[in-house]
Amino acid sequence: MSTINQSRRRLFSRNKNDAIRLPWVKSSVEFTDLCTRCDKCIEACETQIIIKGDGGFPQIDFSIDECTFCQKCVDVCKEPLFEDLNNVPWQITANIQEKCMAYQGIWCQSCKDACDTSAISFTLSIGKAPLPNIDKDACTGCGACVAPCPSNAILLKNVEA
Ligand code: SF4
Ligand code: SF4
Ligand code: SF4
Repeated sequence: MSTINQSRRRLFSRNKNDAIRLPWVKSSVEFTDLCTRCDKCIEACETQIIIKGDGGFPQIDFSIDECTFCQKCVDVCKEPLFEDLNNVPWQITANIQEKCMAYQGIWCQSCKDACDTSAISFTLSIGKAPLPNIDKDACTGCGACVAPCPSNAILLKNVEA
């Protein structure tokens, strides 16, 4: 059994930092060791943002929609993958890349309009398009700002990655 787990870990360990797994997944577990790839979370997700990633393991795709933190994925999963639901769901935050239209001098605030927690603000400067700032403490990592961005400039990343 440990041999299987070791080989699964080798195959999929690069996902630990790259792929965003489900909310409330324990950071202390190796996701690919415990997930049975049963797809129940994929079927349960109310915004359909859980997709089959490398090796058939579920991962989040914010280009589809946001996480509403409905907890349906947690409810249907039979494996000991999740921590106390009173804790924050994950340690991921939004990051704006240079291809953001505002950095090209174009007035765009689509991400700000999508953010329910007002984590995105824009700094006015004379003669330039306002530039976005993300308050990492206010960002819940919901991903609602990702899909509306016309230049696909927002990446959700693990804080510790
Ligand atoms: S419900 Fe749990 S075990 Fe099944 S695919 Fe999702 S995370 Fe893996
Ligand atoms: S908490 Fe709800 S919306 Fe978020 S990934 Fe799980 S099922 Fe989908
Ligand atoms: S991920 Fe959610 S909370 Fe964070 S900046 Fe984007 S919309 Fe706001």
